[in-house]
Amino acid sequence: MVKNVDVLVVGGGNAGFTAALAAAENGRSVLLLEKAEKDRAGGNSYYTAGATRIPHGGLEDLADVVEPDKRHAVTEVPPYTQEDYLADLEKVSGGRNDPELSRVLVEESHGTLRWLQQQGLKYRLMYERQAYNRPDGSFLFWGGLHIGNVGGGKGLMEDHVAAAERAGVGVRYGHAATGLIVEDARVVGATFRDDDGVEGEVRAESVILASGGFEANPEMRRRYLGEGWQNAKVRGTPGNTGEMIRAALDAGAAQGGDWSTCHSVAWDAGFAENESNFELTNQLTRGGYPLGIVVNRDGERFVDEGADFRNYTYARYGRDILQQPGAVAFQLFDATTRPMLRAEEYEMPGVSVIVADDLATLAERAGIDPAGLERTLAGYNDGIDTGRAFDPNVKDGRAAAVVPPKSNWALALETAPFYAFPVTCGVTFTFGGLKTDTYGRVLNDDGAPIPGLLACGEALGGLFSGNYPGGSGLAAGAVFGRRAGSIA
Ligand SMILES: Cc1cc2nc3c(=O)[nH]c(=O)nc-3n(C[C@H](O)[C@H](O)[C@H](O)COP(=O)(O)OP(=O)(O)OC[C@H]3O[C@@H](n4cnc5c(N)ncnc54)[C@H](O)[C@@H]3O)c2cc1C
Repeated sequence: MVKNVDVLVVGGGNAGFTAALAAAENGRSVLLLEKAEKDRAGGNSYYTAGATRIPHGGLEDLADVVEPDKRHAVTEVPPYTQEDYLADLEKVSGGRNDPELSRVLVEESHGTLRWLQQQGLKYRLMYERQAYNRPDGSFLFWGGLHIGNVGGGKGLMEDHVAAAERAGVGVRYGHAATGLIVEDARVVGATFRDDDGVEGEVRAESVILASGGFEANPEMRRRYLGEGWQNAKVRGTPGNTGEMIRAALDAGAAQGGDWSTCHSVAWDAGFAENESNFELTNQLTRGGYPLGIVVNRDGERFVDEGADFRNYTYARYGRDILQQPGAVAFQLFDATTRPMLRAEEYEMPGVSVIVADDLATLAERAGIDPAGLERTLAGYNDGIDTGRAFDPNVKDGRAAAVVPPKSNWALALETAPFYAFPVTCGVTFTFGGLKTDTYGRVLNDDGAPIPGLLACGEALGGLFSGNYPGGSGLAAGAVFGRRAGSIA
């Protein structure tokens, strides 16, 4: 079968659907191929909380973007400026973020989100994830990440599919792109195989790769991220296996960004179905560690749990867990801190947890060295700067003078019952991808665009390295998806 369209989009996540919408808005005929069947579609975007990082001037500035909520009257949303966003990108990536891509992301994410809202996507303030309820009943938002999709990632993808239908975008599920068609040094389409094994090709003026990274490919993880990474658990879609990135490299594309690091988090180690779980999605994440401590099997701490708000540390701590004996660690809480953990994650049906009335029993049941744990806790509890008040809304400076330090939110672990949540490394997405310009035009090793080939979303590399400010993935997919679609 051969089909001709103006624009072929490969991959049906947030980036692909955004690119398809932008191309359709410009009057182009658009076909989107998605590898997964319809009832498993949506890519990593489906698995998200829908959290989207954009700069803004506070609640007033967001009032016409987010759905009405009676809590708005008692809510404070600190402004998050473009300068803040850029500084966060630079800080967490150690300055290895591509400056031009970063500038465009920061400048255009707010406007792009408004454009998506006009296309029918719905947003809200994320009270349950990004705000604490103050004793006077008011809410203060924190962490620079304030809005998200109504219905999380599931809502995001439902809205995208509906918008694409209205815009006349053709979507074929169960169709995996298998290669690029290159003629006279120009990409003129892609080959595919459907779920029945039928092969065909689509000819197009432009091909936009929105097929994600290579995090679901254990062999590529081992090769590019290093030994041991093949054992990480895949948090999101099993479909992002990198074959179209390879196809683009074979067609002369240059690698973009940092291929040696990825986004990875603390992830339920004991739950039986802890990979690509389509029902529980991101509920297997364990993001409450800033309120407790994390130890390995030897009972030793290995990260600063309170280095920063969760949004700025969670994406790099998966790697630290992977490096521990057995690639496992334990998040510890007591009767004081346990009630502060987010119900969505820590009361997930079937959550792995060990509970005990004393620490020796907890250690024994969890498989932690009891002497090591006792030593660690004694040092930690004694080292807390009790002169400072605990306040989860701000970086409170309530530190514990231990190695590694716990820089904020240190509360003594001393009140039974005690809880140990076993965690392993959940891989989210890879940071390396294809080298592009700021419109997603894929570049070759000489820096020249490969005619007919664009990339967006996680298939595009260069924005992140080592770590990542939460909510930037969906924002980047939207900004560069729209840009790629608008010039395709
Ligand atoms: C559990 C989890 C929670 C997350 N939470 C957030 C969050 O709250 N906020 C945030 O900003 N980011 C979050 N992220 C990261 C976010 O998911 C990504 O940054 C973003 O979704 C990437 O969008 P994308 O369109 O590039 O890729 P995807 O959404 O992964 O879409 C890629 C699609 O391409 C398809 N595909 C791959 N190969 C082929 C092929 N050969 N042919 C056809 N189709 C193919 C895949 O099946 C997939 O559907 C989270 C990720 C996970 C896994």
